[in-house]
Amino acid sequence: MNTDEQLMEKIISLCKNRGFIFQAGELYGGLSGIYDYGPLGSLLKNNIKNLWIKKFVEERRDTYLLDSAIIMGEKALTASGHVGGFSDPLVDDVKTEKEYRADHLLEDAGINPEGMSIDEMSQALKDNNILSPEGNKLGDVREFNLMLKTQLGSSSDSSSTAYLRPETAQGIFVNYKNIMDSMHPKLPFGVAQIGKAYRNEITPRNFIFRLRELEQMEIEYFIHPDDWKNQFDYWREEMNEWSEMIGIDMNKLYEVEIGEEDRAHYSERTIDFEFDYSFGQKELFGLAYRGDYDLKKHAEYAKAKLQYTDPHRGETFVPHVIEPSMGLDRTILAILTSAYTEDEVDGNTRSYLALKPNVAPYKIAVSPLVKNKEHIVEKANEVFGILKAEFGNVAWDDNGNVGKRYRRQDEIGTPFCVVVDYDTLDEDHADFATVSIRHRDTAEQERISIDELKNYFKEKLSL
Ligand code: ATP
Repeated sequence: MNTDEQLMEKIISLCKNRGFIFQAGELYGGLSGIYDYGPLGSLLKNNIKNLWIKKFVEERRDTYLLDSAIIMGEKALTASGHVGGFSDPLVDDVKTEKEYRADHLLEDAGINPEGMSIDEMSQALKDNNILSPEGNKLGDVREFNLMLKTQLGSSSDSSSTAYLRPETAQGIFVNYKNIMDSMHPKLPFGVAQIGKAYRNEITPRNFIFRLRELEQMEIEYFIHPDDWKNQFDYWREEMNEWSEMIGIDMNKLYEVEIGEEDRAHYSERTIDFEFDYSFGQKELFGLAYRGDYDLKKHAEYAKAKLQYTDPHRGETFVPHVIEPSMGLDRTILAILTSAYTEDEVDGNTRSYLALKPNVAPYKIAVSPLVKNKEHIVEKANEVFGILKAEFGNVAWDDNGNVGKRYRRQDEIGTPFCVVVDYDTLDEDHADFATVSIRHRDTAEQERISIDELKNYFKEKLSL
């Protein structure tokens, strides 16, 4: 058994060694809280995004996909409350000048910081003699705005101030009118978006859990205010279904109802979906009833009408919103944590990722048993071509011996390995030549004829 810390270390080193996730800017010493997704991580991420779009856009008739700009102007983010209030409590070590999240230091000392003002946090740190992790005195707590600011063009006047968006949601709200005018949707309807968001986190940590550059998958679902309770329950179910569908361990997923004092003032109900990561139970997704807060704010600041008129009843009102918000990087960490498994095969410990085939970077790996027999390599190439044309993400693997290939494919979560061997070429059975199929989770093998391979995998991969 691994300790939690060992598990995290193993996942991080697997991600690096097998091409899933690298520290960004590593060549130059690395950037804290920023990561690059490597070849396999990109495939995994893309599979998740495609499944999300399929489930929440393509298979529905009431949602629209959006891809709004990452850079947003100051006015829009002032209206949304981010310029004034999107901040975390920061405190520094007076000796080293290192910065910390005051609420995290209080939590670590067993004190609940929820609902405390900045001054109350300063007081609580003093009253409890809390020092920095290096054992030094702490200064006063202050608000630190998490948005990354930039300037558009060469002018330094404030009208050119812009920000990297801190969430994808605001790009949806500022496009409400465009979507109404171009698509003419009837309520209820949703707008879904996947994209990068940026938060200048004071202490990025826990690998891809707390990032400065992150990716979100968010839906703003516009409803009639009378309908919010039903819709909230409906989306709660959808989020559970989604989690199960992509292979998140449902025994490690908890719904946490957020109490009134901890909710945003405009939200009448919020549920955090928390996951049991190796470093503790922390937020994976959020589901919030945002009322009409965002549309009303943008209407006020932009002096625009952001409303809806019911075509049957003639009633005009500002729609309310249910927001399922899902962090993509935290999803990947939850999937990897759920999938990482160690067992014993032939007396040796092996580790593998028990990924669901729908998210696995490669669905199948094809190998020739040996590299130096022309006919075997030729046949394996033929089988590879057939499977790649049908299933796309199929790997060709002829490195090392077959045992090593299995270990490598296990580690990256490939559900099936197909091996073309001497029996495949057995002339007595030329009409229904067979290949060996090895299953990742059981390490068992079976033989299937090449003619049947496509149907076999269609069923196994449920594509
Ligand atoms: P936390 O309390 O952990 O900082 P949050 O409540 O600020 O998170 P939201 O603003 O609700 O998070 O963002 C929606 C989703 O975006 C979160 O549920 C999470 O999956 C993801 N997310 C937010 N901040 C980060 C981050 N710094 N790194 C990675 N993912 C993040």
